[in-house]
Amino acid sequence: MTDGAILFQDVEVDGVRVDVRVDAGAITEIGAELSVGAAEVVEGRGGALLPGLHDHHLHLMAIAAAYASVNCGLAADLSSLGGLLAAAPGIWVRAIGYDEAALGYLDRTALDAIAPDRPVRVQHRSGALWILNSEALREVEHVLDATDDVERDDAGRPNGRLWRYDDRLRLALPVIEPDLAAVGTRLAALGITRVTDATPNLDLGTVAVLARAATTGALPRNLRLLGAPEGELPTGVVAGPRKLLLRDHNLPSYDELCDLISATHDLGRAVAVHCVTRESLLLTLAALERVSPLAGDRIEHGSVVPRDVYPHLARLGVAVVTQPDFLRTRGDDYLREVTADDLACLYPYASLLDAGIPVCASSDAPFGELDPWTVIRSARDRRSVGGAALGPSESVGARAVLDGYLTDVPGGPRRAIQVGMPGDVALLTVPLATMLAEPSSDLVRAVRG
Ligand SMILES: [Zn+2]
Repeated sequence: MTDGAILFQDVEVDGVRVDVRVDAGAITEIGAELSVGAAEVVEGRGGALLPGLHDHHLHLMAIAAAYASVNCGLAADLSSLGGLLAAAPGIWVRAIGYDEAALGYLDRTALDAIAPDRPVRVQHRSGALWILNSEALREVEHVLDATDDVERDDAGRPNGRLWRYDDRLRLALPVIEPDLAAVGTRLAALGITRVTDATPNLDLGTVAVLARAATTGALPRNLRLLGAPEGELPTGVVAGPRKLLLRDHNLPSYDELCDLISATHDLGRAVAVHCVTRESLLLTLAALERVSPLAGDRIEHGSVVPRDVYPHLARLGVAVVTQPDFLRTRGDDYLREVTADDLACLYPYASLLDAGIPVCASSDAPFGELDPWTVIRSARDRRSVGGAALGPSESVGARAVLDGYLTDVPGGPRRAIQVGMPGDVALLTVPLATMLAEPSSDLVRAVRG
């Protein structure tokens, strides 16, 4: 990141090879053989210059924490997970990406059997569930409440499984300084210059940490936060639509949701509603219909979108922020676990676009793969890791998926390399057509601005 002038020489913009000058954060000149002046020169050698990509749904602190966590995906079975946990440094051990289909049911007893000595917490790969061993439960005992978010055994003792408990757990856990610069470096290598953090209910301390990282250049500038609290925010972050996390096993009533959305709208803020089931989507659409939508309202995930709600979605004008790469990483589980009715409308994409509903792809990292080029391939291929096809008619071409990453807000206009546009750009090593033919982050050379 720099504020000095940069001259990109011989880059491909909309199929034409030109020079592009970026100065003080904006594109100031585009043409053949521009004079260098005092600018730093970047030789494009015919590689495409794109606006920097925007990942519209990810979780920055969780990505940083993932870098310092045991990855359960590397374990072949529970005993090898025990080995990974034993080898982890620190007093508390944090593990992520637990897949019950691969490693079996996990509770405190099962976890104690492989990791008895230190406090260990293991996150289910959905992000919705933490599983703690007995040592860890002892440390957080004072924040365990009487809600059914705390699973209990027949004797009423917590079994270690805590649902949607991040906010409450944080009060009892040691503070870890997340390595946000490592996240920023990874984003840059992927061509991402803008992000929307979708973590709900961020506290002011976390907002301050993110803002500092954005202003020092460790993270992209002007982070958009769906979980930002109301009121003034520090320089470096802006509030996005307010994230509403509906609990799928305990949905709010229609009236409660209407009140929540309309109270948020009254503050001038749109909503971003987490909808991973048919029921939560139908409830959300009914509520939005009653309170009338506000520009910027969006549906997060849209995991199950039945055809009969398309006219409704189109009329409301709300965007769907989808994650097609889950079809690759979780597709084999979906085929086993999801009902035929839901499978028929799982992560639709092409049909939503055809119906005039704004859709854009995103990562949901660290719960999904951060690499946008992998996401673009998955939206095109719609195949599980095991090779099974999932709704092949919903395949969307690489260009259309990339366009979603080039919008500033989901469903908004695609950003372009034009004079007067912001100067955060991504340079590829190849022309755009080559990238779109077989998208790969290996073909991203750098981001600037
Ligand atoms: Zn998310």
